[in-house]
Amino acid sequence: MTENLNLFTSTQEVVKEALDKLGYDEAVFELLKEPLRMLEVRIPVRMDDGNVKVFTGFRAQHNDAVGPTKGGVRFHPEVNREEVKALSMWMTLKCGIVDLPYGGGKGGIICDPREMSMYEIEKLSRGYVRAISQIVGPNKDIPAPDVFTNSQIMAWMMDEYSRIDEFNSPGFITGKPLVLGGSQGRDKATAQGVTICINEAAKKRGLEVKGARVVIQGFGNAGSFLAKFLYDAGAKVIGISDAYGALHDPDGLDIEYLLDRRDSFGTVTTLFEDTISNQELLELDCDILVPAAISNQITEENADRIRASIVVEAANGPTTTAATKILADRGVLLVPDVLASAGGVTVSYFEWVQNNQGYYWTEEEVSEKLLKKMTDAFENIYSVSQSRNIDMRLAAYMVGARKTAEAARFRGWV
Ligand code: GLU
Repeated sequence: MTENLNLFTSTQEVVKEALDKLGYDEAVFELLKEPLRMLEVRIPVRMDDGNVKVFTGFRAQHNDAVGPTKGGVRFHPEVNREEVKALSMWMTLKCGIVDLPYGGGKGGIICDPREMSMYEIEKLSRGYVRAISQIVGPNKDIPAPDVFTNSQIMAWMMDEYSRIDEFNSPGFITGKPLVLGGSQGRDKATAQGVTICINEAAKKRGLEVKGARVVIQGFGNAGSFLAKFLYDAGAKVIGISDAYGALHDPDGLDIEYLLDRRDSFGTVTTLFEDTISNQELLELDCDILVPAAISNQITEENADRIRASIVVEAANGPTTTAATKILADRGVLLVPDVLASAGGVTVSYFEWVQNNQGYYWTEEEVSEKLLKKMTDAFENIYSVSQSRNIDMRLAAYMVGARKTAEAARFRGWV
């Protein structure tokens, strides 16, 4: 049997397993297996050359039993309906894991911002908000940055929504620039959350992060900040990569130099001749491996050749279900995406709280609160995995799905 590489159906399978283990009946799975709402929109944009191009976008609202839905918007040529649905389901799990008063949502537009001007990206961003405006809002569904979207895009979207709403609505979207009500620490929050998980996982394995050999796949927002944090903590970052290739130095790469040279989409390896492939990177001899790029990277095919003893998933869905089992059988400690990458949405929640109260916190306050949320979540999931003798992914799905299932039950939905 070939393994299931479809992110949506493979996520559904783990959700089913988690709900069965929790003892919920079939109706709960029927409710959670698909988003409650899925909007597909067409967005016409007059491009700089004068021609109109019509883009397709999506917004999925997985479940709003707990509260408004929450999740990023990605701009990428490979965005598709199934992926957005899977990502919205992951957001429900993430919000449950870090105990936020939200359900999961997600959006995406099929486009390649690397080939668009700023002006075209602005028009597309505003057009998307106009197209989805009826189903989103500060107490309905709150977007945020994701792959290839950033604080400038959030600012345009916030401005467009505020015009439609006829109110200044900072709580409509998170990941904004500081002057527009963004939160201290939001830009590095995902990487900080991953770092907290790495520290906790290393403690469980009796490994010192200082001096540990780390490989990071991906040099985008999460990967680049993470490389810097680990480098500053004294870890040896021996491999990094971007979409075009990977760099390896067994003595440790000069991360500051690479950060200086990366472009705004995280590309840096094109400046070097001596590169290895992304697949070779994953199989390097190291202590900690962090897939922080795209999905389906560790599969049945290469899971046996992964040499790290700790794998921390900063990307969404980098390890398949079959590979998760292989790694667990080999004694590799895998910290799953829904836990490891929850730092971003956690600080998004802090941003929304600050917007609602109109009072802003210091960077220290944000970091302290993030540390508590992430360590509590890690400990909780680790202990469920130990007591039930299951891998941390299944434990995380159980913890993540329970809150929504309970909220739906109290509301009388199931
Ligand atoms: N896009 C990020 C994620 O997938 C952040 C979502 C948010 O901040 O709402 O977790």
